[in-house]
Amino acid sequence: MKELVIHHELIDEAVTAKLQAICPFGAFTVENGHLSVNAACKMCGLCVKKGPAGAVTLVEKSSAPSIDKSLWRGITVFADTTEGRIHPVTFELLGKARELAAVIGHPVYALLIGSGNKATAQELLHYGADEVFVYDNTIQGTFLIEPFTAAAADFINKVKPCALLVGGTNAGRSLAPRIAARFKTGLTADCTSLEIKPNTDLVQIRPAFGGNIMAKIITANNRPQLCTVRYKIFSAPTKQAEASGKITRMEIDSDKLQSRVKVLQTTPKEQGIDLTAADVIVVAGRGIKNKKDLTLVKELAGLMHAQFAGTRPLIEAGWVDPRQQIGLSGRTVSPKLIITVGISGSVQFVAGMKGSATIIAINNDKNAGIFNVAHFAVIGDLYEIVPGLIQKIRSGRESAA
Ligand SMILES: Cc1cc2nc3c(=O)[nH]c(=O)nc-3n(C[C@H](O)[C@H](O)[C@H](O)COP(=O)(O)OP(=O)(O)OC[C@H]3O[C@@H](n4cnc5c(N)ncnc54)[C@H](O)[C@@H]3O)c2cc1C
Repeated sequence: MKELVIHHELIDEAVTAKLQAICPFGAFTVENGHLSVNAACKMCGLCVKKGPAGAVTLVEKSSAPSIDKSLWRGITVFADTTEGRIHPVTFELLGKARELAAVIGHPVYALLIGSGNKATAQELLHYGADEVFVYDNTIQGTFLIEPFTAAAADFINKVKPCALLVGGTNAGRSLAPRIAARFKTGLTADCTSLEIKPNTDLVQIRPAFGGNIMAKIITANNRPQLCTVRYKIFSAPTKQAEASGKITRMEIDSDKLQSRVKVLQTTPKEQGIDLTAADVIVVAGRGIKNKKDLTLVKELAGLMHAQFAGTRPLIEAGWVDPRQQIGLSGRTVSPKLIITVGISGSVQFVAGMKGSATIIAINNDKNAGIFNVAHFAVIGDLYEIVPGLIQKIRSGRESAA
């Protein structure tokens, strides 16, 4: 790995101007009279070859900084909360953290920032956290990226956790990259599986190249290790009747908690489509020949008190709301029952629903991939099967009434 080094003793206004004129990427910036190289640098070396002699050099940097992994202990879960309410992804991650920690003999920590609520910290102890670190004396409950990052950084500096698992929520997706940048460590987004090696390297597994391969990513030379995981990928552990573990209050200088964002007012979001919370989902795929035929699938969903959803081609065609897309680039769901109608079962679609408790697939091709994950296969024409199901549900209800 190469690194561009600026020899500041040779830098003056004229040299700065020359370097800036040479660089095709605009990578040289001056702040408070100090010349630095920004992320736009492509290490092309043009400034070294054509710039003032000796002003900048490219040096070989060891790609394997020696870190003592034994100094980093504890699998930590970022506790995602809104006004004291814990997002369920937090419990799912605590369950996974317990499994990982058991392999390497580490404790499980939860990091709770800005809750201001003792009951919230206590609740985390019922789900397997050995210790909950709480920053709430000076931080309000509302998620603000700057103070939350400062508190997380303070926690990492003081506790040195081996890994930090973050839910793929709006807050988690803002926080995790900031922490990774601050500690110059890796971050794997949207992991679908996690394992750990005996040397404490976290194996972060996620689909890559459009879902055609599962990439196993490790952060071998840096700590802490960071990843985000979507809601409903892992199962939440059962709540233990007895809380075990302890709560540790953390102090941080209030001047580190400045925020350039001021919350003037919060307005609850309108209750929209929430596929992730649905118990029953009926999904339409490209086996549906035209937009008006979707009413058939929607009718079935309505009768079953189910959420209606679609595959990506239907979203791309503008037939279905993007919030109703299931799959790799849509929502991940794990309902009690899912019925797929005219869906082939691409890896990208299956990645978003394979955790469903019962899968019923309707397809007229007996070799369709969806049947590999389905618990019940209905082989036939959806234009006969779906109206038949609707008819049966209706007549069943009428005779029960
Ligand atoms: C990076 C990337 C991300 C992606 N993300 C997603 C994603 O999040 N979600 C997603 O869905 N896709 C996603 N895709 C697209 C994905 O690859 C597939 O193209 C898509 O899932 C196919 O949708 P489908 O099953 O509805 O259509 P098709 O693959 O066309 O399948 C239609 C099925 O309907 C059956 N059929 C046809 N007529 C009838 C009938 N009359 N009765 C019964 N069955 C019938 C056919 O046998 C066929 O199996 C992504 C692709 C990429 C590259």
